[in-house]
Amino acid sequence: MTRVAFIGLGNMGGGMAANQAKAGREVMAFDLSATALDKAAAAGCARAPSAAEAVKDADAVITMLPAGPHVRQVYAEQILPNAPRSALLIDSSTIDVESARAVAAEAKAAGFRFADAPVSGGTAAADAGSLAFMVGCDEADFAEVEAMIAPMSRATIRAGDHGAGQAAKICNNMVLGISMIGVCEAFALAEKLGLEGERFFEIASKSSGQCWSLTSYCPFPGPVPAAPSNRNYEGGFATAMMLKDLKLAQEAAAKAGAATPLGATAEGLYALFDRLGGGSKDFSAILEMLRGNAPSRA
Ligand code: NAD
Repeated sequence: MTRVAFIGLGNMGGGMAANQAKAGREVMAFDLSATALDKAAAAGCARAPSAAEAVKDADAVITMLPAGPHVRQVYAEQILPNAPRSALLIDSSTIDVESARAVAAEAKAAGFRFADAPVSGGTAAADAGSLAFMVGCDEADFAEVEAMIAPMSRATIRAGDHGAGQAAKICNNMVLGISMIGVCEAFALAEKLGLEGERFFEIASKSSGQCWSLTSYCPFPGPVPAAPSNRNYEGGFATAMMLKDLKLAQEAAAKAGAATPLGATAEGLYALFDRLGGGSKDFSAILEMLRGNAPSRA
């Protein structure tokens, strides 16, 4: 039986680890949170007392941690000193390209194969095993990475070498942040012009304004029943997480000398919404700020 060590069992990692167990793999799970570990155990994973113990006999190690510093620390202190050299290492957290490349270099120097494999799709897709993975790894390792990811994925695409998966993720989420603000501004303007939101949706979704933020994740409640706008913007993809990703894009753009003025504006608007108290709301709740409402009423 394939042995998978899974480190980081939060909103995303919990569902992902459960899908590895459902696929018949032996999952050794670890998280600093006892609650997260309890949930993973209830979903068929085995509890490990530490990350070091979890990876000890692993065929593959998958990490789903909050940010770059967590990933650097867990790999340097727990995984690289304790996993067998044959283990395939996959980090699915969203982190900065520099940290992904640094961890890949350390892993390679220690004799491991490593892939950065961040995801798109949110918690519902994590639970359903239908995430999209963007992978940065050596070409020779991709087939094995894809097979290891399969129970959690509806699409796995190799973006390029180490760090390219994170580059793809950061660019994708910059598009998402910008397009969501565009869609929200249009709903707020339509309202001021006396145009009903439902009518605007019906027209724009069949016109050149059509995009994922409008037709799959509509920030205006009603037209897309599964969208967080119908649940008072609870759950989904938190504003604070979107802000983290937009910051990563701006840091990467500054280092690369790329001009991303709309990305910078989107970061500023999400930072303002976060500061006004919208951090835990889904990122589509920024519609309320653009309508002139306080986040507490969102
Ligand atoms: P989360 O905060 O719910 O989960 C992170 C987990 O990591 C927590 O349970 C925490 O206890 C654990 N952790 C932190 N340090 C640890 C350590 N040293 N050892 C073991 N466990 C540790 O976050 P999440 O929503 O699951 O997101 C995880 C990653 O996925 C982030 O990088 C995020 O940007 C990315 N992401 C999230 C979404 C989403 O919709 N939530 C979508 C795509 C990508």
